[in-house]
Amino acid sequence: MKPSHIEHIGIAVKSLEEAIPFYEKVLGLECYAVEEVVDQKVKTAFFKVGDTKIELLESTDPEGPIGKFVAKTGGGMHHMAFAVEDVQQALTEVQEAGCEVIDKTPRNGAEGLKIGFLHPKSTQRVLTEICGNK
Ligand code: ZN
Repeated sequence: MKPSHIEHIGIAVKSLEEAIPFYEKVLGLECYAVEEVVDQKVKTAFFKVGDTKIELLESTDPEGPIGKFVAKTGGGMHHMAFAVEDVQQALTEVQEAGCEVIDKTPRNGAEGLKIGFLHPKSTQRVLTEICGNK
């Protein structure tokens, strides 16, 4: 797999409404999109920093992955996402290289992108996402 850049960093928050002012007023970034991702049971808010985005994640369901993470940790850095051309191809390649994956086939992420998660067991405990246009 050949990632072109860090596509985004995912940060789990209790409330987008509480978290957004830090990114806007303190860091001086602009929230350019808020979107619900039904598949992942989250509402997301996006900020651009160069080619990379900050993705804030608020759970819409306490039983969803972000709901459980926030209940356990109080929130914070959740995952890092690498940009690739072809997510299916990247998922196949990392498995061939011995990496365990959570998603064997891509699923739908925010902003119309395809995404897939690698298993933290294989990534030094950092939840790692790959994302791309196909
Ligand atoms: Zn993400």
